[in-house]
Parts: sequence; structure tokens; C-alpha cells
Amino acid sequence: MKLSDLGEFGLINRIRKLSQRKSSSTVIGIGDDAAAVKISASHVMLVTTDLLLEDVHFDLRYTDYYSLGWKSAAVNLSDIAAMGGTPRYCLTALGIPRKISADEVYDFYRGFDKLLDAQKTILVGGDTCSSQNFFISVTAVGDVKLSHVIRRSGARPGDHIFVTGTLGDSAAGLELLQMRSAESGIRNGKSKIIRKPKSVRHGSGLHSALIKRHLRPAPRVEWGRKIALSGCASAMIDISDGLSSDLFHICKESRVGADILADRIPLSSALKKVSGELSNRAVQYALDGGEDYELLFSVPENRVKKIYSLNLPVTEIGTITKGRKISVIDRAGKKRELRPKGYDHFRRS
Ligand code: ADP
Ligand code: MG
Repeated sequence: MKLSDLGEFGLINRIRKLSQRKSSSTVIGIGDDAAAVKISASHVMLVTTDLLLEDVHFDLRYTDYYSLGWKSAAVNLSDIAAMGGTPRYCLTALGIPRKISADEVYDFYRGFDKLLDAQKTILVGGDTCSSQNFFISVTAVGDVKLSHVIRRSGARPGDHIFVTGTLGDSAAGLELLQMRSAESGIRNGKSKIIRKPKSVRHGSGLHSALIKRHLRPAPRVEWGRKIALSGCASAMIDISDGLSSDLFHICKESRVGADILADRIPLSSALKKVSGELSNRAVQYALDGGEDYELLFSVPENRVKKIYSLNLPVTEIGTITKGRKISVIDRAGKKRELRPKGYDHFRRS
């Protein structure tokens, strides 16, 4: 079977079925944001790893090394946040091409360390080798009380669906970076065909805000921990692949469906203002864009009041339903199926 037919998640499912062996201390194996392994009667260690590859996850034409370091840490800490945990340690393995200088690698680590320092997390090791393309592998280790760990699999029909912060900024920021890059390509005589809107050429504070959310996302560690401590959430995931895909993961693991109200999806004022320049794709970015690293979680009816009492920036966007269908309802009340459209490393449609 071709990988393009199986898709990334089909492949992971196969690996998961093959690796059913568990020890008595494995609380959560493959299938969640991080694995959880018992380290005492009351606590689990959380472990997660993520790869960032040049020309797949980042483009060095418009990504600075400091931001790249920051983001490499952020995407891993975000997975610890999604379990309700506290990050403690990281390891970094780098494949470094000859075109990159020692100062640039140092810049990468300055960005990496800045975020780690803010999250009181310590770099304890890694590995370094030369390679054709720049690749970054980060492993993060954290912990959480066993009774507080939040899985993807706990959502039940009737639960309310919440997200933290706002969605779609990162995808819009990426689009703006790509437009600028195409622009400078024109200026350098590489292409004479592509024309981009004037406003993008000049940039603005709004553009910078969106670009910053793409290059230096903030992992919602503190919010994740508060949600976990409150005991309000029945399931949680971080939005790395996009709302449509990450909601799909929660629904699949919980064996439920969901109804999302498109109108309720929180958009930043910067995204709303810039949306016109980006073919009015704000809602599409929010649904399918990914890399916002906000938290998506479900809350049973009787704990909704409590979640609001935490005073976190959360928005209710829908309901968990029986059956397995995920739908999005527009302003006019029209319902359509929401398919997971986030990035799949193998599927090409
Ligand atoms: P996230 O988007 O939260 O980083 P992923 O979609 O990358 O999560 O992974 C989903 C689950 O599949 C996780 O439990 C992860 O550890 C597991 N996983 C992904 N790739 C592999 C692999 N090659 N081998 C074993 N487990 C994997
Ligand atoms: Mg995740």
C-alpha cells in the first residue's frame, strides 16, 4: 500500500496496532499528545517528541534562527500543556547543513533557551550531526498528577467544546510571509508574473502581529495546567494541525461526533482586519490552518460554570454529539460536514 493512500494518521494507527505491548507503568501510549508513564503512585511523567524539517515545517528564506529555536521548543511544550502537565526537561537533536554558520546555530539556541527559561524547563542533552537539510528533533519531558492528566479520549455527548485564545493567526501569518517572499523574488528578478497586494508589500503592525504568532507561538502551559487542576475538562488536545484535524483526533479517540458553530470561532482583531487582503479566508484559516498551539477541550455541562470562573481566555464553539459525524454550522444555520483538512505529511489531494 502506498503511503499517500494510507496517510500520516493511517500509518500511525498501523504502528499503534503493531505495538500493543504495555508495561504496568504505561498509562498512555501512542495516540495522545504525549505518552504518560507512572513515576510514583500519584504522578506520571509525560514524554513527547516532534520533528521540524527544513522546507516541510519551515523555510529559511523567511524564518530567522532565533524564532526557529523558540518555535521548536514551543511545539513540544504545547504537547505537554495539552495533557495538563508541567514541562521540566528537553533534549535537542540537530542535523545541520554546511550552509548554516555557528552563529546561526547559536541564535537558534538563544531562541530555544528564551522559551525554556520562561517555562522553567531545562535542556539536558541531545545529539548533533551534519546533514543535507536542516532538521530539528526535540523531545520534551514533563509531569502531572495522575488524577489530573487530560487525554484525548474522554469527551462525551453533551459536553461543551472550548478553545483558548484565537485561531487562524498563524496560518494568516504564514501566508503573509509567503507573499512577502514571493514579492522579494519578483524584486530579485526570479519571477515577473506574481503580483501581490500593495498593503502586503508595505506591511503593518497587524501583519507583524500575525507573523509573530506563526514564528513565535506561545505554548499554553499555564492555561493547560489551570484547566487540569480545575478538573473541568473531559478531553484536551493542542491545535497543531488545525481545528478540523485536532477536533477529529478528539472525536476519534473519544468515539463521538461534534457540532461546531462557525460564528463562535474566536478570531483576533488583527486577523479580522487583514482577512480582506487574504481573500477573506479568516474562518478557513481558523478551521484548517493549524500551528496556533491553542488548546481545544471539552467540558461536561455541570462544569461549564466552573471553567468560566477560572477567568481564562476561553470561548465555547460547539457541542460533542452522539454518532461520529463532525459538522460545522454557519450563520444561516446551514450544516455541513467538517472534514479534517489539516496538514497530512503523506496524503496529497
Ligand atoms: P501531535 O500533533 O500532538 O504532535 P502526532 O499527530 O504527531 O501528535 O502523533 C500522534 C500520536 O502518534 C502520538 O502519540 C505520537 O507519539 C504517535 N506517533 C507519531 N508518529 C509515530 C511513530 N513514527 N512511531 C510511534 N508513534 C508515533
Ligand atoms: Mg499535540
